[in-house]
Amino acid sequence: MSEKFNAYVLDEQGPAVLRQLTDDDLPEDEVTVQVRFSSLNYKDGLALTGKGKIARSFPMICGIDLAGTVVHSHVDQWQPGDEVISTGWGMSETRHGGYAGRQRVRSDMLVRKPASLTLSQSMAIGTAGLTAMLCVLRLEQAGLRPGTGPVVVTGAAGGVGSVAVAVLAKLGYEVIAATGRPGTHDYLRDLGASGFIDRVELAEASKRPLESERWAGGVDTVGSTTLATVLKQTRYGGSVAACGLAGGNDLPTTVLPFILRGVSLLGVDSVLASVQDRAQAWERLGTDLPTDRLDAISTVHGFSALPELAEQILAGQTRGRVVIDLAR
Ligand code: NDP
Repeated sequence: MSEKFNAYVLDEQGPAVLRQLTDDDLPEDEVTVQVRFSSLNYKDGLALTGKGKIARSFPMICGIDLAGTVVHSHVDQWQPGDEVISTGWGMSETRHGGYAGRQRVRSDMLVRKPASLTLSQSMAIGTAGLTAMLCVLRLEQAGLRPGTGPVVVTGAAGGVGSVAVAVLAKLGYEVIAATGRPGTHDYLRDLGASGFIDRVELAEASKRPLESERWAGGVDTVGSTTLATVLKQTRYGGSVAACGLAGGNDLPTTVLPFILRGVSLLGVDSVLASVQDRAQAWERLGTDLPTDRLDAISTVHGFSALPELAEQILAGQTRGRVVIDLAR
């Protein structure tokens, strides 16, 4: 009889419940992974609580990230014992995800764990960290360079925001952290933020289509009026990478920042990002995110804490990255 393992499974009505499964419940994909760590992203909170329509079929094993060890493989590329990471690719949406003791995935969904990171640290990065790095890469491609002016990061104390602050600061940018929690200022300063802006200031809708030029660039995880304000305040020729909707999925803007100041709005998606883009981002995370900062960003929790943590991340109460230890 195959081994049993625990998994958080979402039925149509939600919230997710803890169930015992076996390999027979997993998809028939090429590589079986013993999952050792996962993480909690905003979208995981939406899926686990059933408050957001994330899963598109049921029952669905939640968890958009996983890190662990290959136990069985039908492809030469992956061998038992290999330490691997998988993030996104529709896990928890269209296919089973990482909140399970074991999971089967397609071989192209896996990335080899960088030697410089532990499995736990790789999940301290996870989807949020990958997304933050994809934002930085897009800004660089658009011409952003250190020394050209302040870069604003919204939702700074969250998962994506914290990694963005740490990476940009390490690269030498002047980082201004937009946060609604003054209690996180010391934490963000330790990550490298050199200034702060209250998130209310950006979230307020103003009637002016353009405001004084402040930002050479931006990483926005909030959307809505916050992103609209960042665009209005971006300097001539600057760029803003948009990846999130923590404040809403609308964008009440005019075209004026684009056509009068040449501002670029760069959309970033990590779920279906190409294998090449992921490889580049993981490599850069290995060099541009010092492990002491990574450890400062993350807290590790046991598997059973997930339902409570899911409520907390939706309420904006978690800080940085939440790592889930499946053995605890
Ligand atoms: P977190 O919950 O960790 O961080 C979100 C942060 O946004 C909060 O910590 C808070 O920051 C801020 N925030 C929360 N609610 C509001 C609000 N109503 N108005 C303004 N700010 C708010 O989430 P993640 O970092 O995991 O994800 C951030 C966003 O990025 C989410 O919308 C998520 O869906 C998206 N995302 C997109 C990806 C992609 O591929 N495009 C991949 C990963 C995430 P503070 O306390 O500092 O104010």
